[in-house]
Amino acid sequence: MELIQSFSVDHTRIVPGIFTSRVDHLGDYSVTTYDVRLKRPNREPVIDVAAMHSLEHIIATCLRNDPDWKDEVIYWGPMGCLTGFYLILKGDRTSKEVFDLILRSFKSVNDTQVVPGTTPENCGYYRMHNLDMAKWYANEFVSYLEANAENDDIYEYPKTERLVTDDGQHFFDS
Ligand SMILES: [Zn+2]
Repeated sequence: MELIQSFSVDHTRIVPGIFTSRVDHLGDYSVTTYDVRLKRPNREPVIDVAAMHSLEHIIATCLRNDPDWKDEVIYWGPMGCLTGFYLILKGDRTSKEVFDLILRSFKSVNDTQVVPGTTPENCGYYRMHNLDMAKWYANEFVSYLEANAENDDIYEYPKTERLVTDDGQHFFDS
């Protein structure tokens, strides 16, 4: 079983922020996965699932239309644990270098009148959206990011030893 880099992270000490989860070097270019974490894992309620879905739609739309960044974006999607999102970008920028992009994207939620792509043709569960709650979570995260922009803890994960099972398998999650 191959090791997944994100699993040396101590989830009991994570605070919200923007973290480099892994950098993959693919021949001549690199791809970086960022964890955009809104909630403290296991220490506060996770994001409401309908709001999470709306944030996924709105911010994906924002990222993929951003004049400076749209060609850099490979993926934006929710974490299964509902505490944040994954962002995958071309290149190997630090998480601090994508701060402005993330801040701008979450600010855009407040200006949204209709969640994009909420038709049965465009979405796997188009009835499961909550724009008002999406705005609430986005505003909370924007305030947090602005208050902590100079705090290194929002850019670097606390580290821990990986879990290893009795038969030597390494455990990974995200
Ligand atoms: Zn959808």
